[in-house]
Amino acid sequence: MTLSQARIAIIGAGPAGLTLARLLELAKIAYVVFERDESAALAGEYSSSGTLDIHEKLGQSALKEAGLLDKFQSIARYDVPTRIVDAQGKVIVMIPGESNTHKPEIARKDLRNLLLSSIPDKAIRWGCKVEDVQKDNDGSVSIHLTNGQVVSGFLLVVGADGAWSKVRKLITSEKPQYSGTHFFTTFIKPEDPTYTSVASVVETGNYLAMGNGRQIFLHYLGDRSYHLSVGLKLPENWTSSSMMFHDSSALWKSLLQNEFIEWTQELTKLISSSNRSFRSWPLYSTPEKSVDWKHIPGVTLIGDAAHLTVPTGEGVNNALYDSAELARQIIKCGIDDLDSAVIIYEKEMLPRALKAIGKGKWYTEHFFGADTPQSFLQASMKS
Ligand SMILES: Cc1cc2nc3c(=O)[nH]c(=O)nc-3n(C[C@H](O)[C@H](O)[C@H](O)COP(=O)(O)OP(=O)(O)OC[C@H]3O[C@@H](n4cnc5c(N)ncnc54)[C@H](O)[C@@H]3O)c2cc1C
Repeated sequence: MTLSQARIAIIGAGPAGLTLARLLELAKIAYVVFERDESAALAGEYSSSGTLDIHEKLGQSALKEAGLLDKFQSIARYDVPTRIVDAQGKVIVMIPGESNTHKPEIARKDLRNLLLSSIPDKAIRWGCKVEDVQKDNDGSVSIHLTNGQVVSGFLLVVGADGAWSKVRKLITSEKPQYSGTHFFTTFIKPEDPTYTSVASVVETGNYLAMGNGRQIFLHYLGDRSYHLSVGLKLPENWTSSSMMFHDSSALWKSLLQNEFIEWTQELTKLISSSNRSFRSWPLYSTPEKSVDWKHIPGVTLIGDAAHLTVPTGEGVNNALYDSAELARQIIKCGIDDLDSAVIIYEKEMLPRALKAIGKGKWYTEHFFGADTPQSFLQASMKS
């Protein structure tokens, strides 16, 4: 398919963009995906995060519609137990694997590969970073790439470009707001000196340690490695103003000395290896007002571009479901009535987005509250 044949442009080859691409592919509707990563192999920051649980009603139903549920089930991990412990390592909650079978886990890179393998290579324009998206005088939408190229002529431009969407500004003037919290993430591979002790504690499950508004999460990834996240409250500009961002050993040392002083060494030793590289994730959320938008012809948003929240375990599920809902309406209304399709999609999605943003706020308050994990568990029981 040439660029001029594509009727729908999707910006971003994350879970939302790729699921929509797959569904349009099945429906034989011409589309193109613009992705900033240089190639599938160079998946940039995408590969630097861990495992996702895919829920029956949202994520799995979208994968079913995309004809990918069987393949998903063959690579997903069922029966993954979750242990929640306090800052002293005392087990507070143990959720056995059997209770988690309705939301199996998949490594992020495996989900991306599953979706990528379901559409032709040529559907994705790799290395195409979008700089701006404009509504032109004739009402059409033009996409401006950082390489200077301008592409237009699409009937619909779908922003699936995540937290810092370039499409969002055509729909709302609201911007993501900093949640006050950060995650630092890294992988622990079998060759890591701490691997054996991590493996003996976490085994093949999820291990969530919470205390005094701080967290150490470890997730087994299925390929023998572990994903480690350290969560805490920090000022927004902490990473840019701190030398520690460039020096991982100083970062971990500081974290251990200042932030986890009251934690048992059994836990802090899990994060004390000095020579790992890590990624910093300041966590943002779009405000409620941002999902109160009026329909703009020719453009819409799916996934984090539409409703960014701090991680709650639902972000990717909502992203997949958005794609399924939008594709469903496009197929129903037909390529000549995309406006109606988008209006119906947005009517279903916006209240769901509002709920997701509310849940994100709840998580920030209770996950990072001073008296976690008790406050989190009490609030979970009430909600
Ligand atoms: C630390 C962390 C942990 C998380 N854990 C979970 C979890 O356990 N469970 C869960 O459900 N969710 C989790 N989430 C949220 C989840 O990652 C997102 O909700 C999900 O990835 C959204 O998918 P998306 O396709 O909308 O956006 P993304 O996954 O952000 O994909 C956007 C795509 O667009 C591309 N792109 C961005 N800008 C441009 C541009 N200008 N031009 C071209 N391409 C561009 C990106 O390269 C990327 O490929 C977590 C998020 C974070 C930060």
